[in-house]
Amino acid sequence: MTQPCLDCGACCATYRVSFYFGETDDHLHGVVPEHVTIPISPYLVAMRGTENTPVRCVALAGEVGKGVSCDIYAQRSTTCREFDAYSEACHRARQHHGLPQLPPL
Ligand code: SF4
Ligand code: SF4
Repeated sequence: MTQPCLDCGACCATYRVSFYFGETDDHLHGVVPEHVTIPISPYLVAMRGTENTPVRCVALAGEVGKGVSCDIYAQRSTTCREFDAYSEACHRARQHHGLPQLPPL
Protein backbone atom coordinates (compact mmCIF):
# COMPACT_ATOMS: atom_id res chain seq x y z
CA MET A 1 0.00 0.00 0.00
CA THR A 2 1.25 3.47 -0.86
CA GLN A 3 0.91 6.39 1.54
CA PRO A 4 -2.66 7.45 0.62
CA CYS A 5 -3.72 3.80 0.82
CA LEU A 6 -2.89 3.60 4.53
CA ASP A 7 -5.85 5.89 5.23
CA CYS A 8 -8.10 4.24 2.67
CA GLY A 9 -8.51 0.54 1.82
CA ALA A 10 -11.53 1.24 -0.38
CA CYS A 11 -10.43 -0.96 -3.28
CA CYS A 12 -9.99 -3.94 -0.92
CA ALA A 13 -13.64 -3.47 0.08
CA THR A 14 -15.13 -2.79 -3.37
CA TYR A 15 -13.84 -5.20 -6.00
CA ARG A 16 -13.59 -8.95 -6.38
CA VAL A 17 -9.87 -9.65 -6.09
CA SER A 18 -9.22 -12.64 -8.33
CA PHE A 19 -6.04 -14.16 -9.72
CA TYR A 20 -4.50 -17.33 -11.13
CA PHE A 21 -4.64 -20.20 -8.66
CA GLY A 22 -0.94 -20.87 -9.18
CA GLU A 23 -0.19 -17.76 -7.11
CA THR A 24 -1.27 -19.53 -3.93
CA ASP A 25 1.31 -21.11 -1.67
CA ASP A 26 0.15 -24.66 -2.29
CA HIS A 27 1.77 -24.33 -5.72
CA LEU A 28 5.44 -24.09 -6.59
CA HIS A 29 6.48 -20.39 -6.55
CA GLY A 30 3.08 -19.31 -5.17
CA VAL A 31 3.09 -16.98 -2.17
CA VAL A 32 -0.51 -16.01 -1.38
CA PRO A 33 -1.67 -18.05 1.63
CA GLU A 34 -4.12 -20.57 0.22
CA HIS A 35 -6.42 -20.41 3.26
CA VAL A 36 -7.35 -16.78 2.56
CA THR A 37 -8.50 -17.60 -0.96
CA ILE A 38 -11.53 -19.35 -2.43
CA PRO A 39 -11.84 -21.06 -5.84
CA ILE A 40 -14.13 -19.23 -8.24
CA SER A 41 -13.37 -21.11 -11.47
CA PRO A 42 -11.13 -24.00 -12.57
CA TYR A 43 -8.12 -21.68 -12.79
CA LEU A 44 -8.99 -18.69 -10.68
CA VAL A 45 -9.22 -18.00 -6.97
CA ALA A 46 -10.40 -14.87 -5.19
CA MET A 47 -9.43 -13.35 -1.90
CA ARG A 48 -12.01 -14.55 0.61
CA GLY A 49 -14.50 -11.86 1.40
CA THR A 50 -14.33 -10.37 -2.08
CA GLU A 51 -16.38 -13.07 -3.80
CA ASN A 52 -19.69 -11.82 -2.40
CA THR A 53 -21.28 -8.54 -1.41
CA PRO A 54 -20.69 -6.65 0.75
CA VAL A 55 -17.09 -6.92 -0.35
CA ARG A 56 -14.30 -6.90 2.19
CA CYS A 57 -11.08 -8.80 1.78
CA VAL A 58 -10.33 -11.00 4.81
CA ALA A 59 -6.76 -9.71 4.83
CA LEU A 60 -7.81 -6.08 5.24
CA ALA A 61 -7.28 -4.88 8.80
CA GLY A 62 -8.64 -1.62 10.15
CA GLU A 63 -11.41 0.74 9.12
CA VAL A 64 -11.92 1.82 5.51
CA GLY A 65 -11.27 5.53 5.15
CA LYS A 66 -9.59 5.80 8.56
CA GLY A 67 -6.56 3.54 8.87
CA VAL A 68 -5.91 0.17 7.28
CA SER A 69 -3.24 -2.40 6.59
CA CYS A 70 -2.95 -5.63 4.65
CA ASP A 71 -2.31 -8.70 6.79
CA ILE A 72 -0.53 -10.45 3.89
CA TYR A 73 1.16 -7.43 2.35
CA ALA A 74 4.41 -9.21 1.44
CA GLN A 75 2.45 -12.18 0.08
CA ARG A 76 -0.34 -10.34 -1.75
CA SER A 77 -1.31 -11.31 -5.28
CA THR A 78 -0.28 -9.69 -8.52
CA THR A 79 -3.81 -8.28 -8.75
CA CYS A 80 -3.18 -6.33 -5.56
CA ARG A 81 0.36 -5.36 -6.54
CA GLU A 82 -0.75 -4.01 -9.90
CA PHE A 83 -3.71 -1.98 -8.65
CA ASP A 84 -2.78 1.66 -9.05
CA ALA A 85 -3.60 4.43 -6.62
CA TYR A 86 -4.81 7.49 -8.56
CA SER A 87 -6.32 5.26 -11.28
CA GLU A 88 -9.95 5.44 -12.40
CA ALA A 89 -10.67 2.22 -10.51
CA CYS A 90 -9.14 3.78 -7.41
CA HIS A 91 -11.33 6.86 -7.79
CA ARG A 92 -14.44 4.69 -8.21
CA ALA A 93 -13.64 2.61 -5.12
CA ARG A 94 -13.11 5.72 -3.03
CA GLN A 95 -16.33 7.24 -4.35
CA HIS A 96 -18.16 3.99 -3.46
CA HIS A 97 -17.07 4.50 0.14
CA GLY A 98 -17.85 8.22 0.21
CA LEU A 99 -14.21 9.26 0.08
CA PRO A 100 -12.97 12.14 -2.07
CA GLN A 101 -10.88 11.48 -5.15
CA LEU A 102 -7.17 11.60 -4.44
CA PRO A 103 -5.68 14.92 -5.51
CA PRO A 104 -3.54 14.80 -8.67
CA LEU A 105 0.07 13.87 -8.09
S1 SF4 B 1 -8.77 2.88 -3.43
FE1 SF4 B 1 -6.89 3.90 -4.16
S2 SF4 B 1 -6.10 5.08 -2.40
FE2 SF4 B 1 -7.60 3.58 -1.64
S3 SF4 B 1 -6.35 1.80 -1.00
FE3 SF4 B 1 -7.05 1.45 -3.12
S4 SF4 B 1 -5.39 2.24 -4.43
FE4 SF4 B 1 -5.09 3.07 -2.37
S1 SF4 C 1 -4.78 -8.99 -0.03
FE1 SF4 C 1 -4.30 -7.04 0.94
S2 SF4 C 1 -4.00 -5.56 -0.74
FE2 SF4 C 1 -5.07 -7.38 -1.58
S3 SF4 C 1 -7.28 -6.89 -1.46
FE3 SF4 C 1 -6.72 -7.98 0.42
S4 SF4 C 1 -6.22 -6.38 1.94
FE4 SF4 C 1 -6.18 -5.44 -0.13
